[in-house]
Amino acid sequence: MKADALARLPSVDRVLRWPPVAALAASHGRAPVLHVVRAALDACRAAATVPDDDALCDDIGRRVEADLAPSLRRVLNLTGTVLHTNLGRAPLPQEAIDAMVQVASGASNLEYDLATGKRGDRDSHVEKWLCRLTGAEAATVVNNNAAAVLLTLNSLGARRDCIVSRGELIEIGGAFRLPDIMARAGCRLREVGTTNRTHLRDYAEAIGPRTGLLLKAHTSNYRIEGFTAEADPVKLGALAAEHGLPYVVDLGSGTLTDLSRFGLPREPTPADTLREGASIVTFSGDKLLGGPQAGIIVGRADLVARIKKNPMKRALRCDKLTIAALGAVLRLYADPDRLAQRVPALRLLSRPAAEIEAQALRLLPAAAQWAGGRGRVDVVPVQSQIGSGSLPVDLLPSFALRIAPAGKRGGQALEALATALRSLPLPVIGRVADGALLLDLRCLDDEAGLLAALLPA
Ligand SMILES: *Cc1c(COP(=O)(O)O)cnc(C)c1O
Repeated sequence: MKADALARLPSVDRVLRWPPVAALAASHGRAPVLHVVRAALDACRAAATVPDDDALCDDIGRRVEADLAPSLRRVLNLTGTVLHTNLGRAPLPQEAIDAMVQVASGASNLEYDLATGKRGDRDSHVEKWLCRLTGAEAATVVNNNAAAVLLTLNSLGARRDCIVSRGELIEIGGAFRLPDIMARAGCRLREVGTTNRTHLRDYAEAIGPRTGLLLKAHTSNYRIEGFTAEADPVKLGALAAEHGLPYVVDLGSGTLTDLSRFGLPREPTPADTLREGASIVTFSGDKLLGGPQAGIIVGRADLVARIKKNPMKRALRCDKLTIAALGAVLRLYADPDRLAQRVPALRLLSRPAAEIEAQALRLLPAAAQWAGGRGRVDVVPVQSQIGSGSLPVDLLPSFALRIAPAGKRGGQALEALATALRSLPLPVIGRVADGALLLDLRCLDDEAGLLAALLPA
């Protein structure tokens, strides 16, 4: 019976000759459509069903569309976490996007010195600005800050003791654990002090003939409070210098400007940290800096030269798009007065709550219409987070559209609402809190986009 039915299934060649399928092949190419036709026929065989020709045609059309749709897509980040690692962290300034487009489509002087016609250095496009903005003697960039830490430790501390406080043996999300990175860098971890208190003398007592460097990691995603002590960074720098050892600081976020000018808490900058005596500072390009994913290494010229000579640098280097974008972002920092308008991450972080509330009230009717009978929508005050481990306990006052599911089965209804928003043509990502879905509007740049997603014309 089943075999009988399946015998009526059309052949791949016949299906490819059906006019609607032939039209798909003409617009998308024969190979991708052939792949889908085979998959659709396999699915029929697996289910032992023979749809009529029209139904099979529709199925193939849907499958082609789904198969060729890009997997990596734009979404609206309404989670309230501004630098959301899973959602791609910092949105880029237009200047950075334009710079990437310029170099993406053709040849560039990435490693070519236009003055001499000789081989150049890709770091040269950002080094001048990094030095000017941090006061460093030299700078280099790699794929991300995890790579910057790995490369620095391997270049300056391989086969030697690297001294670090027990209170700073950090884990950042996504399998970055300092002790593991140290081991992979070939360094021997020499822990000193205790979880809550580490003194200068702990470092001093640990220094010996096998010491390679002193490391300080910014505890960016947690805070130790109460009975705590850490060594004065200036004295730590002096101690390292006295013994001729590099003093390396992993700053994590590393903003290049005083955040208090945007009403945000002040974070140590790479310039502060170098001034306090660090020999090398590493930080991310796509956290508070608001640029592309990159790991930035700044500091003493002799040490940066050793880092650049390490063969691992070649494996961890940035591509031309990143260098183009980073260069453009750094040039924006030359004019701190206009940063808040030009660097989207800083603009979003410093948006006044009243402006977000007004936006929420404008969008309330559309959100209520979208929710219909599925939930009740209102505007509520919430707290946004900076994210990416930056300033972990400082919350930013914001406003959200709160969608509370209607009916008794709250949990399921809530999940259904969240799924419906994620399934929109422009997916909307909120967060669940206290039995409701919150759409924190702090990061909503594209109000028209959200309106069109909720209420398509
Ligand atoms: C975020 C962070 C890292 C990792 O940086 P990526 O750019 O995400 O690789 C390393 N150290 C600290 C202290 C951080 O905050």
